[in-house]
Amino acid sequence: MPRRRRNRSTRPGRPGTPDTLDTLDAPGTPDALDALGARVSAARAATEARGETFYQGPSRVHLASFPPKERWDDWVELSSRAWPAADEQHYMLVPTTCFNCESACGLLAYVDRQTGRVRKFEGNPEHPGSRGRNCAKGPATINQVTDPDRILYPMKRAGQRGSGRWERITWDEVLDALAARIRAAITEDRRNEIMVHIGRPGEDGYTERVLASWGVDGHNSHTNVCSSGGRTGFQFWMGIDRPSPDHANAKVIYLISAHLESGHYFNPHAQRITQARANGAKVIVLDTRLSNTASQADYWLSPRPGSEAAINLAIANHLIQTGRYDREFVRRWWNWADYLAACYPGRPQTFECFEEVLAGLYAEFTFSYAAAESGIGTAVLAEVADVVAGAGTRFACHCWRSAAAGNLGGWQVSRTLFLISALLGAVATEGGTFPNAWNKFVPRPIHVPPHPRVWQELSWPPEYPLAQNEMSFLLPHFLAEGRGRLDTYFIRVYNPVWTNPDGLSWMEVLTDESKVGCFAALTPTWSESAYFADYVLPMGHGPERHDTHSYEQYNGQWVGFRQPVLRAARERLGEHIADSRQVNPGEVWEENEFWIELSWRIDPDGSLGIRQYHESRTCPGEKLTVDEYYGWMFEHSVPGLPERAAAEGRTPLQWMRRYGAFEISAGNGAGHSQPVPASELEDVAVTATGRVYSAGARPPDPNIVPVGSPEPDRDGRRPAGVQVDGEVLRGFPTPSGRLEFWSSTLAAWGWPEHALPGYIKSHVHPDRLAPDQVVLLSTFRLPTQIHTRSANAKWLDELAHTNPVWIHPSDAARFGIAATGSLVRVETEIGHFVAKAWLTEGIRPGVVACSHHMGRWRLDGGPRAVGAMAATVDLRRGAGGWRMERRAPVRRYASADPDTQRLWWSDTGVHQNLTFPVHPDPISGMHCWHQAVRVRPADPGDAHGDIAVDTAEAREVYRRWLALTRPAGQVSPDGTRRPRWLMRPLKPSSGAFRLPGGAG
Ligand code: SF4
Repeated sequence: MPRRRRNRSTRPGRPGTPDTLDTLDAPGTPDALDALGARVSAARAATEARGETFYQGPSRVHLASFPPKERWDDWVELSSRAWPAADEQHYMLVPTTCFNCESACGLLAYVDRQTGRVRKFEGNPEHPGSRGRNCAKGPATINQVTDPDRILYPMKRAGQRGSGRWERITWDEVLDALAARIRAAITEDRRNEIMVHIGRPGEDGYTERVLASWGVDGHNSHTNVCSSGGRTGFQFWMGIDRPSPDHANAKVIYLISAHLESGHYFNPHAQRITQARANGAKVIVLDTRLSNTASQADYWLSPRPGSEAAINLAIANHLIQTGRYDREFVRRWWNWADYLAACYPGRPQTFECFEEVLAGLYAEFTFSYAAAESGIGTAVLAEVADVVAGAGTRFACHCWRSAAAGNLGGWQVSRTLFLISALLGAVATEGGTFPNAWNKFVPRPIHVPPHPRVWQELSWPPEYPLAQNEMSFLLPHFLAEGRGRLDTYFIRVYNPVWTNPDGLSWMEVLTDESKVGCFAALTPTWSESAYFADYVLPMGHGPERHDTHSYEQYNGQWVGFRQPVLRAARERLGEHIADSRQVNPGEVWEENEFWIELSWRIDPDGSLGIRQYHESRTCPGEKLTVDEYYGWMFEHSVPGLPERAAAEGRTPLQWMRRYGAFEISAGNGAGHSQPVPASELEDVAVTATGRVYSAGARPPDPNIVPVGSPEPDRDGRRPAGVQVDGEVLRGFPTPSGRLEFWSSTLAAWGWPEHALPGYIKSHVHPDRLAPDQVVLLSTFRLPTQIHTRSANAKWLDELAHTNPVWIHPSDAARFGIAATGSLVRVETEIGHFVAKAWLTEGIRPGVVACSHHMGRWRLDGGPRAVGAMAATVDLRRGAGGWRMERRAPVRRYASADPDTQRLWWSDTGVHQNLTFPVHPDPISGMHCWHQAVRVRPADPGDAHGDIAVDTAEAREVYRRWLALTRPAGQVSPDGTRRPRWLMRPLKPSSGAFRLPGGAG
């Protein structure tokens, strides 16, 4: 539809719309629109009575908070560039999902009806999680779409790996080459030589199912450099690895993270925390650094890094000693009976006896003890403990990365945090903390392939039988040790050289073709890792790809739909789009279509049994399309959606393409206390402590349901629930069916001393630091940057582009650092980096901090990558190891975007992660990010951004941490590699769990 220019007689600066047409906060209902119509008429009359021409405003609802969904086909706004003329622009609004963090907030693409291009992105008011709100990174999606440096065509390297020489090839050539390699690996029984390494998943289980269809245990993830520590603590309690706090209804919110600005699901959570604060909730924040979140807290505690669990235990002890815990909840839902039976068999097996034991367990964790460990005053701790005690069941908490990701034993930070929730009975209560699985919904897909029959030791090595996720960051060391090789290695929206610790060890193996035969990077943008790939394959950003997702953001369940917005827009106009490449820029593809096509070519005649999982059901023998894949899912697996869609005369897929998200349920309540229906109770067996097994229980499907799945009993009955006061209730997916205060798994698998929530002294505990060392916090990021992709957004780069080292003035004086801006050398165990100092009282003395989302670089001669953020470097390897030096900072450059000629910054920070060795926690497997460092003024020859790393020393540090483990071969109680009930993103078949020579 063409633009219309209106002549206005109203004065510039006064749009001519009366004040009465202010907002439409609840757009969309017929009543609201009628009311609005009446107000418009009144306004028209009033305006015309003044002798002025009435202009209703381009949107006809004027300053509406959000465009009502009824008008998404033709939404009108005035061109800001044409002002004061009223140049109307007509948009089609198409929903999709932001892909810039895991929050998966809804976006609305404004597709210009005249040009057919996306003009901007704003929030989707129909999305139940984000409710129309976004952080800065959501609207900045438009920068990523129009980024002049993005990859538009498949590329193949033309010289040596890392030489920076590339040639354009066709998708057909890439697919045939990759399919031939993978088919050979499968038919030659080298399945463990195929690996897909995921950065941002975006969808629950899609890639896992592709790999399962190939019979390959090749899923790898970034989780052990991200959130495994936090997950592990929750997993051992609930059998579910994520908390889902009901922030909006909480009385007290307790955060061990910078949750309001960069925490997990931070925008959906932040808006609900803000809502709770407006209703009088108190916010307690534990963060050594004065984050934006800490600045908003009622209580900001800046503890010594690693002491957070001691604080949690002091609060728990206070609740226990003062009797301010929910006895009834503890009696009914903790596995205290298992604990007494295992650890106190000679004592009375009663709850009263357990309470006596409990009173002694944490008695040493006084406020004085926690104060000595944390450096926080006893009076403050006592006051905070009282506030927590007063929350009752309205205590919402969260801990994800932060301390749980920083410290040896960090998983005990989240385990002790949940101890507080479990004492208060604030579990799955209004204003409390839910297990995430009850506020998340993973729809069943059209095909579910069987579990692979192999075990990938490069991701799940025997030394880490309890690792929460794949030991991804140890891959270079495992390959260097000769534990295996990779024939075909994919990275997918992942940048291991830059993201992981010890990135130069990654570079060493990725450039060694004897270790990695073929390296393919599926990525929307150039990256430090993609430089070393054999194939660089352009994948779509959030508005250029399909995914479904569902995340625990409040007490309810929803499913969201990411989609290529131009496809949906053109389909609304009646076109048929069969392939996302028809609408994406260049030859940018989406992964779903790529994986279907690749799988099809691996098994063209179906003889390998792979093709069947990528075939159409409606047209047997033909390839599955994404329309059929998602159409089937929305039709058959999302309760309530077909009915809602039918009410509007749409199919479920059409409904999701139009609105982008569907709320399945709200106010789900306490799933653990739901009675198990009699139909599921048949041939029942009950253990002494109440675990109920039944031949009629529904089998869990670990491919679909992202929770732990306790094993059947020896007669093959499945766990159905737990007996509580004579009733069979759903319970939790733990071995006991209850909340596991005492973890029988930790006890049985070689770690009995850590089976209870406890305090493990960090590797950066003061006892372990030399007098001249301080702790470097490297786990935080700035709110407007995230991982690799955000650097391709010019608005975000302008907002945040450097990462100075936070240093307290007292430390600066001690180290001889003159002022903010002075260059400092930060020396780690394996090298050093040179950065600018920022003197601030926002950090605790004895601790320094540096954001990890900066310091992007490109090799001289390589692709420009991220022109606004990547400095050009020299990288050399000599006798003492690697040295990286800045050859040129970012500077203005000519491109299709005139803004690249307007760059006003040159400082893009330093890539500190290169200088960190790996620190794998022996239990959770989490990389423990905090570093013991020495900080001093830079040497005269040092320059900002310089890096020095000795990867031989990095190998030694890896071996020292490896020696802390208790391998499955030594501790497995049943001859298996790993407790079968623990989660695994892609779970092999039961037989693959057996240790070689094991009886399990
Ligand atoms: S919080 Fe920001 S980056 Fe994350 S999904 Fe929402 S809008 Fe995108």
